[in-house]
Amino acid sequence: MTRPRLCDLPTSYIKGVGPALEKKLGSIGIHSIQDLCFHLPIRYEDKTTISKISELQPNQKFQVQGEVTNCHIQFGRRRSLVCTLNDTSGHLTLRFFHFNASQKAALSVGTKVRCYGDIKFGRLGPETYHPEYKIIKSLTHDGLSKTLTPIYPVTEGLQQSRLKAIISHAVDLINDAHPLEDFLPEKLSAALGFADVTGAILQIHRPRPSSLAADENKDSADGIKRLAFEELLAHRMSMRQSRNEFNKQIAPQFPDQNSLLKNFFNSLPFQLTNSQTKAISEIAHDLNRSHPMLRLLQGDVGSGKTVVAAAASLLAIGAGFQVALMAPTELLAEQHNLAFEKWFGPSNINVGCLTAKVKGQPREKLLGAISTGGCQFVSGTHALFQEKVHYHRLGLIIVDEQHRFGVHQRLALRNKALSLKISPHQLMMTATPIPRTLAMSAYANLDNSIINELPPGRIPVKTAVIPDARRKEVINRIDTACTNNQQAYWVCTLIDESDILQAEAAEATATKLATLLPNVKVGLLHGRMKPHEKIKIMERFKANNIDLLVATTVIEVGVDVPNASLMVIENSERLGLAQLHQLRGRVGRGAIDSYCLLLYRAPLSTNGSQRLAALRATNDGFVIAEKDLELRGAGQVLGTQQTGIMSFRIADLNRDADLLESAKKAEKAIFEDYPDSIQPLIDRWIGGKKDYAQV
Ligand code: ADP
Ligand code: MG
Repeated sequence: MTRPRLCDLPTSYIKGVGPALEKKLGSIGIHSIQDLCFHLPIRYEDKTTISKISELQPNQKFQVQGEVTNCHIQFGRRRSLVCTLNDTSGHLTLRFFHFNASQKAALSVGTKVRCYGDIKFGRLGPETYHPEYKIIKSLTHDGLSKTLTPIYPVTEGLQQSRLKAIISHAVDLINDAHPLEDFLPEKLSAALGFADVTGAILQIHRPRPSSLAADENKDSADGIKRLAFEELLAHRMSMRQSRNEFNKQIAPQFPDQNSLLKNFFNSLPFQLTNSQTKAISEIAHDLNRSHPMLRLLQGDVGSGKTVVAAAASLLAIGAGFQVALMAPTELLAEQHNLAFEKWFGPSNINVGCLTAKVKGQPREKLLGAISTGGCQFVSGTHALFQEKVHYHRLGLIIVDEQHRFGVHQRLALRNKALSLKISPHQLMMTATPIPRTLAMSAYANLDNSIINELPPGRIPVKTAVIPDARRKEVINRIDTACTNNQQAYWVCTLIDESDILQAEAAEATATKLATLLPNVKVGLLHGRMKPHEKIKIMERFKANNIDLLVATTVIEVGVDVPNASLMVIENSERLGLAQLHQLRGRVGRGAIDSYCLLLYRAPLSTNGSQRLAALRATNDGFVIAEKDLELRGAGQVLGTQQTGIMSFRIADLNRDADLLESAKKAEKAIFEDYPDSIQPLIDRWIGGKKDYAQV
């Protein structure tokens, strides 16, 4: 008789798991005993020891036990049950705002209690609110956990204690009768020297106290590494699989008819850089195939991605298809509209711009043109995929500053084309380089083109970090620059404040600077202005009718005014590295020396000063992206909007960066030589959660 495999045993195999609970578990992707074993703790609690009350430290988790010496209801602003616990070393107050009569009765004087919670120091000395507690018979160390207590991710209606008990049962089942299968081909895991999977799983669910700090304990670290590797590998394989599926879709082919590209290049007032040419030829190659392109174009701010997008668009339009270019802000969509009109207008290509601001008759007209194909190229914001928009033949989707969009938004736009029974080609562009670790994980399913040089003649921006106390000098610098017919930005930042406060701060700064700089024409730009006001201000700034543009971070992405050569960023210590680099990219676009002055308020935090130092040290977006990842961690870099792309149960891209290369190799080996391992590994780690790989 063959032994049942844990991946085939349903959760109802565990006593006490009935249909309702089975369904609940299923709703978070747990279907089998194996799934229970691979539902990994998010953290641990240490209930292996008892602390003395006298030795408690504030803001720490602790476990103590003692005898109740007092228990009463306190009336005051909020009624509470207050209970004093004495362990002969000291007193601890337990406070409950939610309680009932039987709870009060159970905590009567003389009762012995063991409790676990957070400590605060209040008027009465050490206090804890709503601790976990249980009544014990005697003050001995009986019944203490021998291992750390795992805390699992739960869902509504599924209690931690219940889930913990079920998982503990599941882990108990891992024995000879129900082995946990090792799906890594033996040859591979032997070569990598990993711990075996069963040991690793036991370690994760029931770690010894000494292994709480995983990297300090060799054995435990081994277990984590082994599982992290398997998870990274499973993700890569899943992405490869869906990319293979994706590649089966049919896309329209866009050949370079009648030397479209050559003529376009000849019409440009500049020579393309080598990396622009290379990116365009990679894209052109993709577009001429019958399955959809899925390509990420990375290039630092100012490296000239827009013209690459234009070349791709021309090929699509030349083949009789439409192009939609989605940008994160109206300002940027409008700016693209102007650029493409200039490039495409002479060839009688109809260019449109669809944002929330286009209303009434003009909107109807534009929507009509999009649905009949009269409009061949449309730039816009997320308005591009709203319900009322119907495309005639959408063949290419371009997403600018792709990291600003959520996965769902990109999917929505793609779905606009599916009525054709063909899939559109997709080009994503980003000025925020993807650090290597992310490129090898979250973005492993995308093809990459990289523009790694700036157009010739650009002079690197010089960056200085200046304390707020020297503001006056900075203002004088602006005066000098603007008198010399140069232009400047002054960026006001208020993090975590409302739009209104941001706008007010920018307004106040603009007024003040206008007074201090009577010879300088000051303009103001912030997120609460009407779209047409914003555009008007930008046009005036572009036309050099404004010398100094005081702005909030709305100018972060895409804004292109080559004559602006000075940027001041206030409170720069509050911004992230990537954002600062983006902002700085607004200057250094012309042929003059440019400066970025980072004002900060002393004292700087360590992290803050590291960030500013990194920025001063380099202009290379890729170096900055790596530094950013190091300082902030992957979750933050991916951004909350994109967390749907990838969340790991155990792998940590910083800690496990060293595993990525071997995961990549193992992926290749498994696809080539061990196809039977593919599905089991994907099912184990990803199961039903195989989403978004096609966006
Ligand atoms: P980004 O990559 O940040 O989107 P843009 O596409 O806005 O950069 O290009 C920045 C500026 O550089 C634009 O004014 C653009 O016309 C110009 N540009 C692009 N490519 C070249 C080139 N090869 N030589 C000179 N200028 C270029
Ligand atoms: Mg751009």
